[in-house]
Formats: sequence, C-alpha cells, structure tokens
Amino acid sequence: MQFIAGQWRKGGDGSAGEIVNPANEEVLAEIPRASKQDLDDALTASQQAFISWRESSAQERAAVLRKAAALLRERVAAIALRMTLEQGKTLSESRLEIELSAETFDWYAAEALRINGRVMPSRIRGARQMVLPQPLGPVAAFTPWNFPALLPARKIAPALAAGCTMVMKPSEETPSSALALAQALADAGLPAGVLNMVLGVPAEISSHLIKSPIIRKVTFTGSTAVGQSLARLAAEGVKPCTLELGGHAPVLIFDDANLERTVATCIMGKTRNAGQVCTSPTRFYVQEGIYPRFLKAFSQAMEKVIVGEGMANDSQMGPLANKRRLQAISHLIDEAVDVGAKISAGGKRQGENGFFFRPTVLTSTPMNAQVINTEPFGPIALVDSFVTLEEGLERANNNRFGLAAYAFTQSSDTAVKVSEGLEAGGIGINSFAVSHIEAPFGGLKDSGYGHEGGSEGLEAFMHQKYVHHA
Ligand code: NAD
Repeated sequence: MQFIAGQWRKGGDGSAGEIVNPANEEVLAEIPRASKQDLDDALTASQQAFISWRESSAQERAAVLRKAAALLRERVAAIALRMTLEQGKTLSESRLEIELSAETFDWYAAEALRINGRVMPSRIRGARQMVLPQPLGPVAAFTPWNFPALLPARKIAPALAAGCTMVMKPSEETPSSALALAQALADAGLPAGVLNMVLGVPAEISSHLIKSPIIRKVTFTGSTAVGQSLARLAAEGVKPCTLELGGHAPVLIFDDANLERTVATCIMGKTRNAGQVCTSPTRFYVQEGIYPRFLKAFSQAMEKVIVGEGMANDSQMGPLANKRRLQAISHLIDEAVDVGAKISAGGKRQGENGFFFRPTVLTSTPMNAQVINTEPFGPIALVDSFVTLEEGLERANNNRFGLAAYAFTQSSDTAVKVSEGLEAGGIGINSFAVSHIEAPFGGLKDSGYGHEGGSEGLEAFMHQKYVHHA
C-alpha cells in the first residue's frame, strides 16, 4: 500500500516482488509498486501540506506526535507480530522496538517546544539582530529493513517536529511497521500530505524523489554504496543529506575486564537482531592476559545460543532477514577460512528451511579477508589478541568505518584513554548501548555524516535564518 495525501492506495504499477517470512520462506504478500504518478502525487501533497504545517504552532505539532505515541503503545502487540513475521527478529525485540519508536515520538514532541532562536547584541543602535530556526521543507527519506519501525521513527519524529513534511520510502521487505507509524499519525490528527509513504523499486523511487525540485533535504539509512549514490543525486540539486551508513565496530577487552559480565554482554550485543545492526560489535580485540579465557567462554556461550523462529518464546536469536544475508554470511565465512581464519564456534547454516545461521566466532582472520573490510551485518565475531593499549587502539581504528566502538575495562584511566582514542561516532564502555534518543548518533569515515537523535537530530531538518532589522 502507498500512503499519499492522507489516503491509502494500492500503487498504480503492479507488483515489485514479494515479502517473504525469513523463518519459513513463505510468501506473506506482494510488494506494491508506486507509479510515477503516485510519486508525483506524494511530492505535490508534501509541497502543499508544507504551507500550513510550517505555520502550525509547536504545541500543535507536539500534540499530534504525543497522541501517535500513545496509539503505538496501544497497538504494540499487533505491530510487533507483523514485524517479526516480516523481519525475523524475536517478538520481544519487536515489542521493544515499537516502544522505542513511541518514545522517539514523545521525545521530539517535547523538543518541538524548545526550538528557540536567538537575539544577539546589535552592532547598530536601535537595530535588532535575530536568528530564526526554520524548517527546511519537504524531505525525502529512505529506511532499511533491520529496524523497520525505529529507523523510520527517528526520521519522521524530528522532521515533523521541525515543521517539515516528508515522502518516505521504507524497506519494501518489511513495510508494515512504517505503515503502522503513518496510520498512528493519521489517527492522531496529522493533516493529509504531511507524511507520505511510497513503496516500489528503490532506485526508481529515490532518483525520482531526490531529483524533484520540491524536495529540500535527503535522509538515508542503509549501506555505504547506496548512500554514496543518493548523496551524488542530492549533490546535483545542492540538497543537504544525512547519511547513516554501515559499521564494523571494534571491541577492546582489557585484562582487567570482568570476564563473566563481559562475555554475557558480548553475547547479547552480538546476537541482537542476528547481528544485523549497524552498531553490532564485530572485531573483538582481547588483551593477551585474558584472551584464552575469553575465547573459550565466548565460543562456548555462542554455541549455546538458541536460534529459532522469532515467534518462539525460547528463541534468543531469529533468522537472518533475507536470502541475500544468508548467502553473504556464508560467503564471508568460507572466504575467510580459505585465506587462513579458524572457526571457533558456529560457521554454518542451521536447518534447511528459513534463513537461520549459527552465531559464529572466527580467530586468526588475516587482514586481507573480505570480512575484515566489508560490513558483515550478521552473527559473525572476529576474535584476536593485542598486547598494549596503543596497539589495541591502532588496530581498532584501522578500518574504513567509524560508527561505533567499544571497550571493556574496570580502569577509569583506560576508559578515558579509549573514549578519546577510538575513532567512532559513538563509544560504549562496558556496554553496547550507543544509541539513545536524547543523544546524537552518527558516523565518521565510510559510516556517513550528520546526526540523528538529540537536538542535533532536529537541527538536521532546520536552517538558521538570520534577520537584521534596522
Ligand atoms: P542494499 O544496499 O541493497 O539495501 C540497503 C537498504 O537500502 C535497503 O533497505 C534497500 O531497500 C535500500 N536501497 C537499496 N537501493 C536503494 C536506492 N537506490 N535508493 C533508495 N534505497 C535503496 O543492501 P541489503 O542487501 O538490503 O543490505 C546489505 C548491506 O546494507 C548490509 O550488509 C549492510 O552493510 C547495509 N545495511 C545497513 C543498514 C544500517 O542500519 N546502516 C541497514 C540495512 C543494510
């Protein structure tokens, strides 16, 4: 379905493929395909709605977001069920994601009330000098399949709070959560055209939307390769871009870390959403004194992880989200083993039906292995040892990505040194939680630019107008 100008419609161009349940490979539905006319209608709706939405009061915008948050909480069970069917993650992960999406709406509802400009001392007697924050205009937004509700919420909430309108293309493979956000907003009283959702062929939609003179801002979460191509399109129209791209997060585990707690935290961090998280810990560098004990305990715990359908109560990790990931993960492991890596846990598919994969630990992975230079985006942990803090930092930073990085230590001195020395947008010390709605989230290097979350996430949808009034 497409959501255009406040109305649901099928999409004028037939089907763009199938939505597949990754737990059993059954087809859940057809993916509708937006026609050029659908896209133009969505663009026109966002342009017309911007005229009045930008003039609405912050209180009015906040009220809609708060009401939508309450509706999402009421509907959490149904939305989570559908998310698990389409994406594969466990039901508890899906529920948490909807709760966090509701929290995101609430947080930006409050932040809308704090869009303050400033008045500065005038350089001319009797004149006024003011900075007025203003919404940028209609936004084109693109979100992936790994967090089908939270990633859309992190773009929709600040954009709407700022007074922008939006045409969003959620992932075709997991669309129902984003559509449920649109429905909740519509039911909360969002005026028609402020938020539009279109589905179809990603490259067709993104190029049509970004090239349109109506669009004034582009925001994308997904792979580096696609981000680069969208940024090129945006550059042709001199449109600002926020890019949340991939990661290859290092973890430094120091001799003084609490072994038991560190292993338990690493298991949870690595298996969350089957490793299909841009901040997922991937390269584990363990100081030589604790290395043998960590490797043994971590590999044993990875072997014990219960992988199963997201619907099953005892599943700790669901299937990979699609066949592409299954093929990519198998290939990365086979190639790493070919060039010298050793498998210390997992390393293979689980079962023949569904895209289940065993949590995998590789050691002695050479620097030329593809898995060192490609974002694995799956349940693969590369474990290796280091001797000094300086060596650990150097190896952690020796990667083209710079989204998240972690360290486990009980020394505050070490924690300070790694917090300053790790090259990444977010640092977790004794924790993998680097994405909270009140804090900025964004990457360095090939991980992208710009921020979501925090006041920075709102500023991304505003420009600062300067007024000199003599
Ligand atoms: P992909 O590059 O084909 O797609 C990534 C996302 O971008 C998908 O949601 C897709 O629908 C969308 N997309 C693809 N082409 C597009 C286009 N021209 N215009 C607009 N949107 C487009 O890759 P994939 O097979 O879905 O995932 C592979 C890799 O993508 C992963 O290994 C991972 O590195 C990266 N990824 C990152 C995130 C993230 O949160 N940063 C999320 C999903 C995927």
